[in-house]
Amino acid sequence: MKIIVCVKQVPDTTEVTIDPETNTLIREGVESIVNPFDLHAVEEALKIKKALNEVEITAISMGPPQATEALKEVIAMGVDKAYLLSAKEFAGADTLATSYTLSLAIRKLGVFDLILCGKQAIDGDTAQVGPGLAGQLDIPQIAYVRKIEYIDNNSIRVQRITEEGHEIIEAFLPALLTVVKDINIPRLPTLKGKIIARKTEVPILTPGDVNADEKRIGLTGSPTTVIKVFTPDMRKDSKIFTGDTEQTVDQLSTEIEQIIENIK
Ligand SMILES: Cc1cc2nc3c(=O)[nH]c(=O)nc-3n(C[C@H](O)[C@H](O)[C@H](O)COP(=O)(O)OP(=O)(O)OC[C@H]3O[C@@H](n4cnc5c(N)ncnc54)[C@H](O)[C@@H]3O)c2cc1C
Repeated sequence: MKIIVCVKQVPDTTEVTIDPETNTLIREGVESIVNPFDLHAVEEALKIKKALNEVEITAISMGPPQATEALKEVIAMGVDKAYLLSAKEFAGADTLATSYTLSLAIRKLGVFDLILCGKQAIDGDTAQVGPGLAGQLDIPQIAYVRKIEYIDNNSIRVQRITEEGHEIIEAFLPALLTVVKDINIPRLPTLKGKIIARKTEVPILTPGDVNADEKRIGLTGSPTTVIKVFTPDMRKDSKIFTGDTEQTVDQLSTEIEQIIENIK
């Protein structure tokens, strides 16, 4: 079985700066970590590898050259191979361009059975890339997976969280899952793993290597641009309504009507 895990390197801080030219995050030189949800995706791949025979795990990432560190970290956890999509043409990608670019690398790697992504990245927070990638590859996708109940070389049965609890879903492979943190506890890289990671080459893939349509990658291929990132300031002039439910609802609706009046 061939498992692919999508791993994103994210800033280890909320103090991020936006490039005023491109309105994209400045990632170079910023303290970075492996996106926490992706550590759970890697851990789940390693658990499947332990449970089934002949499982090969490949991690892919799109990011600046420093994202090699994130891939080395998951190799130290036990991932077999890793590839980094890195070129200035890829920079500034929104989720559409990101999922397109990742899909090209996966097509280049050939046959695969299962793709594992994290539920979301802690910087963009859109949770769109996993489902977007499944769309690009035209395969079934199950998001918010909290448990894999059964898997063999042809099919998978999982528990997917819902607002009411969870539902059980089956799918034929190849398929894509996005996982939540409840699914497992990621292992720490071992010393042996760190030694292997240090020796492991992480090939860099360019737009040419994956036959990318330059109009569909990076800022050029992104219909969405982030125009401003800011921490909303905590408003001081909040108002507290007191009284029984009816009274407070009356007060609140009067207040809202007033606000709407003022906006007009
Ligand atoms: C503050 C902020 C807001 C943004 N808002 C939007 C927006 O509204 N719409 C939009 O299209 N873009 C937006 N972006 C850009 C978006 O962050 C990038 O497109 C990013 O590459 C993917 O989206 P995400 O971070 O939301 O990932 P998510 O969709 O949340 O990531 C889900 C999973 O996909 C995989 N994944 C995601 N990115 C990569 C990667 N580069 N390499 C490997 N695997 C990956 C990981 O497994 C990850 O756990 C925003 C960026 C920032 C910083």
